[in-house]
Amino acid sequence: MHGPRANTDALKDAQTDSVIQSALDDKGFVKVDDHLRLHGAPNVFAIGDIVEGRMFPTTGGAKPERTAEFATVHGVVAVENIIRTVQDEALMSIDRDRNVYGQSLGVDMGPEKGVAVIHHEKAEYLKTIGFDFGGDPEELKRDGASVSDKIPGVKMYITSIIAQCNMNAEAHAGFWAMKAGYPEVVDPLKPAEEAKPAEEAKPDEEAKPAEEAPAAAEE
Ligand SMILES: Cc1cc2nc3c(=O)[nH]c(=O)nc-3n(C[C@H](O)[C@H](O)[C@H](O)COP(=O)(O)OP(=O)(O)OC[C@H]3O[C@@H](n4cnc5c(N)ncnc54)[C@H](O)[C@@H]3O)c2cc1C
Repeated sequence: MHGPRANTDALKDAQTDSVIQSALDDKGFVKVDDHLRLHGAPNVFAIGDIVEGRMFPTTGGAKPERTAEFATVHGVVAVENIIRTVQDEALMSIDRDRNVYGQSLGVDMGPEKGVAVIHHEKAEYLKTIGFDFGGDPEELKRDGASVSDKIPGVKMYITSIIAQCNMNAEAHAGFWAMKAGYPEVVDPLKPAEEAKPAEEAKPDEEAKPAEEAPAAAEE
């Protein structure tokens, strides 16, 4: 089988609460509403790879892109929604089709060049907090990708951005741009008032015939 597999068999045994059992789809992924709450258990939230496919972007294909970056988006939404639940406020939803924040990849091409694949808005935003993927901004805008002389240093950039986020309150807030409401990035989260009505769980996209390339294994 290609792609991530949910390790939830243990939750299907007789000792598990029937509410939890019935929140698992036929592949063992967790069915949630648009606010990441378990079906039938609204005070329990699920995030990350274990969640059903409809809560991930697909970037035009059919296969859910289960990535650490999008698990982070889930995490921000779940924390926000836990706070809003306690405060009795309307909950936040995810707009998986506006995943500008989660799209970026740098590939080394020798000691001096690499290819940046990143949404241009995210590239511009990252520059404002000192993290430059490089590449021609016009090419990034047109193609979503550009050759860069900065990619070979990407590990250094990543290390520095993580260090910055942990030491500098401004960079930390910027890293959580979707929560901080920075105008530089397209917010992947929809404010509560724009949220669609909660959808019923649909069959996981992965139930379709596997025509696409494996997602996680190729990242
Ligand atoms: C080869 C590869 C490359 C990838 N590259 C990228 C990348 O470049 N960028 C990117 O954004 N994403 C990438 N991903 C995807 C990314 O790793 C996942 O989306 C991310 O780790 C999901 O985080 P998670 O916390 O939901 O799950 P996980 O990171 O899988 O964490 C789940 C944890 O739960 C534990 N666990 C499992 N079952 C049980 C149980 N029954 N009881 C207790 N604990 C349990 C596991 O041991 C694990 O520690 C890649 C994945 C793979 C496999």
